[in-house]
Amino acid sequence: MAGEPQDDCLFCKIVAGQIPATVVRETETTLAFRDINPQAPTHVLVIPKAHHADAAALAAADPALAADVLRETRAVAEDEKLDSYRIVFNTGSGAGQTVFHTHAHVLGGRGLQWPPG
Ligand code: AMP
Repeated sequence: MAGEPQDDCLFCKIVAGQIPATVVRETETTLAFRDINPQAPTHVLVIPKAHHADAAALAAADPALAADVLRETRAVAEDEKLDSYRIVFNTGSGAGQTVFHTHAHVLGGRGLQWPPG
């Protein structure tokens, strides 16, 4: 069911504390932790604690929670003192999504090219 923890979900396991992560921020509804394979000097993932497969599913099921995630991306950027940064929600395997629990990548600390690959 939408929002319920999934046994086979890596990020649900991080939320549950079953897999370690370098957590940088936590709210009642969200968690932010460093990406294990950083693509920039700052590469933090912001997730809703509730399981939603991707950004589109989250936006449809719980727009207030989607707003919580977006608010936390801003807080991460402030904490990391980023003037410019990129927020990425890979949505679908064709777009590079590999973990099917909504996450916003917050990338910064270097110049970022456009368009992304
Ligand atoms: P995506 O490809 O958009 O689904 O992004 C998934 C991200 O999760 C990738 O950037 C991975 O490096 C990252 N990742 C995978 N496992 C972990 C982990 N245990 N802790 C932190 N980040 C992870």
